[in-house]
Amino acid sequence: MAVVTGPQAPALIRSKVVLLGAPGVGKTSLIRRFVHQTFSEEHLTTLGVKVDRKTVSLPGVNVVMLLWDMHGETVDLEVPAAYLRGSAAVLLVADASRLDQTLAPCQILLERLLSMSPNAAVQWVMNKADLIQDWEPAAAILDAAGIDIGATVKTSALDGRGVEDVFSSVASSIAGRATAGS
Ligand code: GDP
Ligand code: MG
Repeated sequence: MAVVTGPQAPALIRSKVVLLGAPGVGKTSLIRRFVHQTFSEEHLTTLGVKVDRKTVSLPGVNVVMLLWDMHGETVDLEVPAAYLRGSAAVLLVADASRLDQTLAPCQILLERLLSMSPNAAVQWVMNKADLIQDWEPAAAILDAAGIDIGATVKTSALDGRGVEDVFSSVASSIAGRATAGS
């Protein structure tokens, strides 16, 4: 008699994902949109650290993303080391309508993060894309900062564009690295 085996259960990866960027760029709003499909005009001052969880199912693997969101008022440059340590991925969130002010904080935070989590997957996010008609000035600012615009994702927590895509892409990067490392 043939032994019938069921389909193999998908592997499970649990990973810490941090969102970094200047206050007001929309980190909390992106998580809200991705996890709860909602948007609010209020600026939520996240007290301490809030961890939301969402699972992204990919072929053969479920990636449980533990999304770390931190206090909005801290000059995010002073993010404590414990917040950065052990991150599998980082979303560097800039405000597309204020790139001149919001890009540099990401770069400083990225350096700190990579000193602690050198293998973290890095994803640049240009949020508030709904406010931008003409991307040329933004492209010039990114270029001057040495960031390849092709490697960035345009999102809007307000209308939802790009949000699922950016988190799915981060989940794929996490899964790819986990497979490569095993
Ligand atoms: P955080 O400090 O980075 O967590 O930023 P918040 O998520 O609290 O958002 C700051 C402000 O920007 C709030 O008033 C949000 O409603 C607004 N906001 C966030 N994302 C977007 C977006 O994609 N488009 C627009 N137009 N506003 C946004
Ligand atoms: Mg916040």
